[in-house]
Amino acid sequence: MNTKNTVAAVYPGSFDPPTNGHLDIITRASGLFPKIIVAVTENQNKKHLFSLQERVSLLKEASENLKNVEIVSFSGLLAHFLERVNSFTVIRGLRALSDFEYEFQMALMNRKLNKKIETVLLMPDQAYAFLSSSMVKEIASLGGSTSGLAPKCVEKRLKEILKCTI
Ligand code: ADP
Repeated sequence: MNTKNTVAAVYPGSFDPPTNGHLDIITRASGLFPKIIVAVTENQNKKHLFSLQERVSLLKEASENLKNVEIVSFSGLLAHFLERVNSFTVIRGLRALSDFEYEFQMALMNRKLNKKIETVLLMPDQAYAFLSSSMVKEIASLGGSTSGLAPKCVEKRLKEILKCTI
């Protein structure tokens, strides 16, 4: 892969909500590429707890120390979004076992849609290898501590949201 001319790499995902696993990947990617565009999407197959706007603003707050990271939202096909921003490097995270098949399929499908698209899979710190947004939501909804699992702003919003739903 030639990253010499890569202006930006795009990290797409639902981020419902952002976790420390996502932040770990964003931080690693921001050290590898001149610019990272975190692209927050509505995934039609998933029912989201946080609105698109809220996921964008939580990610902005959690990554404000990383100066080369931009948070945006998009809808539709990732391949079309990449055309619009003229960047064809996709960042995705790879956790222990579970992600491989899906990420492999997505990477090859995106390349089929546009042969310029390359996917870079990054492994998080071991501490986050089994961490997911669903797990964070489940722990919070059962009254457990999410300390160390999600950014502070996310923990705060989870508490507020869950208080409202009780
Ligand atoms: P999507 O609906 O696109 O899968 P997610 O927010 O669930 O959105 O995940 C976005 C990306 O972040 C995926 O590549 C996923 O594998 C990765 N990811 C999620 N949690 C972690 C984690 N704890 N460590 C590393 N990568 C992660």
